[in-house]
Amino acid sequence: MGFPKIFSELVESIARFPGVGRRSAERIAFYILKMQSQETKALARRIEEIHKFIKSCRLCNNFSTQDICSICSDAKREKDIICVVEEPKDIMAIEKTAQYRGLYYVLLGSISPLEGVDGEDLNVRKLINRIGSGEITEVIISTDPDNDGELTAQFLIQKLSSYNVKIYRIAIGIPLGTQIEYIDSATLGKALLDKKAI
Ligand SMILES: [Zn+2]
Repeated sequence: MGFPKIFSELVESIARFPGVGRRSAERIAFYILKMQSQETKALARRIEEIHKFIKSCRLCNNFSTQDICSICSDAKREKDIICVVEEPKDIMAIEKTAQYRGLYYVLLGSISPLEGVDGEDLNVRKLINRIGSGEITEVIISTDPDNDGELTAQFLIQKLSSYNVKIYRIAIGIPLGTQIEYIDSATLGKALLDKKAI
Protein backbone atom coordinates (compact mmCIF):
# COMPACT_ATOMS: atom_id res chain seq x y z
CA MET A 1 0.00 0.00 0.00
CA GLY A 2 3.00 2.24 -0.51
CA PHE A 3 4.00 2.69 3.13
CA PRO A 4 7.68 2.43 4.04
CA LYS A 5 8.81 -1.06 5.00
CA ILE A 6 9.89 -0.01 8.51
CA PHE A 7 6.31 1.13 9.17
CA SER A 8 4.86 -2.22 8.02
CA GLU A 9 7.41 -4.03 10.17
CA LEU A 10 6.26 -2.11 13.25
CA VAL A 11 2.62 -2.96 12.42
CA GLU A 12 3.58 -6.63 12.14
CA SER A 13 5.32 -6.56 15.54
CA ILE A 14 2.34 -4.92 17.23
CA ALA A 15 -0.13 -7.30 15.55
CA ARG A 16 1.57 -10.15 17.41
CA PHE A 17 0.41 -8.74 20.77
CA PRO A 18 -2.40 -10.76 22.39
CA GLY A 19 -5.83 -9.43 21.48
CA VAL A 20 -4.51 -6.93 18.90
CA GLY A 21 -5.72 -7.45 15.35
CA ARG A 22 -4.15 -6.00 12.20
CA ARG A 23 -6.42 -2.93 12.18
CA SER A 24 -5.65 -2.01 15.80
CA ALA A 25 -1.95 -2.61 15.13
CA GLU A 26 -2.07 -0.08 12.29
CA ARG A 27 -3.84 2.48 14.49
CA ILE A 28 -1.24 2.00 17.24
CA ALA A 29 1.61 2.33 14.72
CA PHE A 30 0.12 5.59 13.38
CA TYR A 31 -0.23 6.81 16.95
CA ILE A 32 3.43 6.00 17.66
CA LEU A 33 4.41 7.85 14.49
CA LYS A 34 2.66 10.96 15.78
CA MET A 35 4.16 10.75 19.29
CA GLN A 36 6.85 13.18 20.41
CA SER A 37 10.33 11.71 20.09
CA GLN A 38 10.80 12.01 23.88
CA GLU A 39 7.68 9.90 24.47
CA THR A 40 8.77 7.19 22.05
CA LYS A 41 12.17 7.02 23.74
CA ALA A 42 10.51 6.65 27.16
CA LEU A 43 8.27 3.87 25.81
CA ALA A 44 11.21 2.00 24.26
CA ARG A 45 13.14 2.39 27.52
CA ARG A 46 10.25 1.00 29.61
CA ILE A 47 9.99 -2.05 27.34
CA GLU A 48 13.73 -2.65 27.73
CA GLU A 49 13.59 -2.10 31.48
CA ILE A 50 10.90 -4.67 32.20
CA HIS A 51 13.12 -7.26 30.55
CA LYS A 52 16.15 -6.10 32.45
CA PHE A 53 14.67 -5.66 35.93
CA ILE A 54 11.67 -7.97 36.24
CA LYS A 55 12.53 -11.53 37.11
CA SER A 56 10.84 -14.56 38.69
CA CYS A 57 10.53 -14.66 42.49
CA ARG A 58 12.87 -17.32 43.80
CA LEU A 59 10.10 -18.84 45.96
CA CYS A 60 6.88 -18.54 43.96
CA ASN A 61 7.84 -17.51 40.35
CA ASN A 62 5.72 -14.33 40.56
CA PHE A 63 7.06 -11.24 38.75
CA SER A 64 9.43 -9.30 40.96
CA THR A 65 12.21 -6.74 40.79
CA GLN A 66 13.74 -8.37 43.88
CA ASP A 67 15.00 -11.89 44.51
CA ILE A 68 11.85 -12.54 46.58
CA CYS A 69 8.54 -10.89 45.57
CA SER A 70 6.49 -8.46 47.66
CA ILE A 71 3.88 -11.13 48.52
CA CYS A 72 6.37 -13.78 49.70
CA SER A 73 8.22 -11.18 51.77
CA ASP A 74 5.06 -9.69 53.33
CA ALA A 75 5.06 -10.59 57.05
CA LYS A 76 1.27 -10.19 57.22
CA ARG A 77 0.51 -13.01 54.74
CA GLU A 78 -0.52 -16.46 56.01
CA LYS A 79 2.60 -18.47 55.27
CA ASP A 80 1.11 -21.96 55.56
CA ILE A 81 -1.40 -21.58 52.70
CA ILE A 82 -0.42 -21.73 49.03
CA CYS A 83 -2.66 -20.87 46.10
CA VAL A 84 -1.37 -22.50 42.90
CA VAL A 85 -1.98 -20.54 39.68
CA GLU A 86 -0.86 -20.88 36.06
CA GLU A 87 0.52 -17.37 35.41
CA PRO A 88 1.54 -14.23 37.36
CA LYS A 89 -1.48 -12.39 35.89
CA ASP A 90 -3.73 -14.81 37.82
CA ILE A 91 -2.17 -13.51 41.05
CA MET A 92 -3.23 -10.00 40.01
CA ALA A 93 -6.82 -11.20 39.47
CA ILE A 94 -6.96 -13.01 42.84
CA GLU A 95 -5.35 -10.10 44.73
CA LYS A 96 -8.10 -7.82 43.35
CA THR A 97 -10.75 -9.94 45.12
CA ALA A 98 -9.19 -9.08 48.52
CA GLN A 99 -10.41 -12.52 49.70
CA TYR A 100 -7.07 -14.24 49.97
CA ARG A 101 -4.23 -13.66 52.43
CA GLY A 102 -1.97 -16.66 51.83
CA LEU A 103 0.98 -17.17 49.51
CA TYR A 104 1.08 -18.21 45.85
CA TYR A 105 2.92 -20.58 43.59
CA VAL A 106 3.03 -19.87 39.83
CA LEU A 107 3.36 -22.90 37.54
CA LEU A 108 4.32 -20.71 34.53
CA GLY A 109 2.06 -22.78 32.30
CA SER A 110 -0.36 -25.68 32.31
CA ILE A 111 -0.61 -29.17 30.92
CA SER A 112 -1.64 -28.87 27.29
CA PRO A 113 -2.02 -32.00 25.14
CA LEU A 114 -2.48 -29.82 22.04
CA GLU A 115 0.85 -28.09 22.61
CA GLY A 116 2.59 -31.27 23.74
CA VAL A 117 3.05 -30.11 27.36
CA ASP A 118 2.58 -32.86 29.92
CA GLY A 119 2.82 -32.95 33.71
CA GLU A 120 6.54 -33.67 33.72
CA ASP A 121 7.16 -30.40 31.84
CA LEU A 122 5.42 -28.40 34.58
CA ASN A 123 7.47 -26.39 36.98
CA VAL A 124 6.42 -28.11 40.26
CA ARG A 125 9.71 -29.08 41.92
CA LYS A 126 9.93 -26.01 44.19
CA LEU A 127 6.27 -26.45 45.18
CA ILE A 128 6.76 -30.12 46.09
CA ASN A 129 9.91 -29.26 48.07
CA ARG A 130 8.03 -26.68 50.12
CA ILE A 131 5.11 -29.00 50.79
CA GLY A 132 7.54 -31.79 51.63
CA SER A 133 9.26 -29.59 54.20
CA GLY A 134 6.00 -29.46 56.21
CA GLU A 135 5.65 -25.66 56.30
CA ILE A 136 2.44 -25.74 54.21
CA THR A 137 -0.90 -26.98 55.62
CA GLU A 138 -3.24 -26.00 52.79
CA VAL A 139 -2.99 -25.89 48.98
CA ILE A 140 -5.69 -24.22 46.89
CA ILE A 141 -5.44 -25.27 43.24
CA SER A 142 -6.57 -22.29 41.17
CA THR A 143 -5.64 -23.33 37.66
CA ASP A 144 -8.05 -22.17 34.94
CA PRO A 145 -11.45 -23.89 34.85
CA ASP A 146 -10.85 -25.05 31.27
CA ASN A 147 -9.64 -28.36 29.85
CA ASP A 148 -5.90 -27.72 30.31
CA GLY A 149 -6.44 -26.22 33.76
CA GLU A 150 -8.49 -29.26 34.87
CA LEU A 151 -5.83 -31.68 33.60
CA THR A 152 -3.22 -29.66 35.50
CA ALA A 153 -5.35 -29.71 38.66
CA GLN A 154 -5.76 -33.51 38.44
CA PHE A 155 -2.00 -33.91 37.96
CA LEU A 156 -1.28 -31.74 41.01
CA ILE A 157 -3.85 -33.57 43.15
CA GLN A 158 -2.15 -36.85 42.24
CA LYS A 159 1.32 -35.45 43.00
CA LEU A 160 0.31 -33.89 46.31
CA SER A 161 -2.03 -36.54 47.69
CA SER A 162 0.79 -38.45 49.41
CA TYR A 163 1.73 -35.38 51.49
CA ASN A 164 0.16 -34.32 54.74
CA VAL A 165 -1.57 -31.27 53.29
CA LYS A 166 -5.21 -30.25 52.76
CA ILE A 167 -5.98 -29.85 49.06
CA TYR A 168 -8.71 -27.58 47.72
CA ARG A 169 -9.91 -26.71 44.22
CA ILE A 170 -11.33 -23.34 43.33
CA ALA A 171 -14.28 -24.12 41.08
CA ILE A 172 -17.72 -23.42 42.43
CA GLY A 173 -19.68 -20.81 40.50
CA ILE A 174 -17.10 -20.58 37.75
CA PRO A 175 -18.27 -21.64 34.28
CA LEU A 176 -16.03 -24.22 32.62
CA GLY A 177 -13.96 -23.04 29.69
CA THR A 178 -12.93 -19.65 31.01
CA GLN A 179 -9.70 -18.30 32.49
CA ILE A 180 -9.03 -16.93 35.98
CA GLU A 181 -7.94 -13.55 34.59
CA TYR A 182 -11.31 -12.97 32.87
CA ILE A 183 -13.52 -13.77 35.86
CA ASP A 184 -14.95 -10.71 37.62
CA SER A 185 -13.65 -10.02 41.12
CA ALA A 186 -16.93 -10.76 42.94
CA THR A 187 -17.33 -14.20 41.30
CA LEU A 188 -13.66 -15.07 41.77
CA GLY A 189 -13.76 -13.95 45.41
CA LYS A 190 -16.78 -16.16 46.03
CA ALA A 191 -15.10 -19.09 44.27
CA LEU A 192 -12.16 -18.73 46.66
CA LEU A 193 -14.41 -18.62 49.72
CA ASP A 194 -16.39 -21.64 48.46
CA LYS A 195 -13.27 -23.67 47.62
CA LYS A 196 -13.96 -27.40 47.44
CA ALA A 197 -12.00 -29.90 49.54
CA ILE A 198 -10.46 -32.72 47.51
ZN1 LIG B 1 7.11 -14.78 45.61
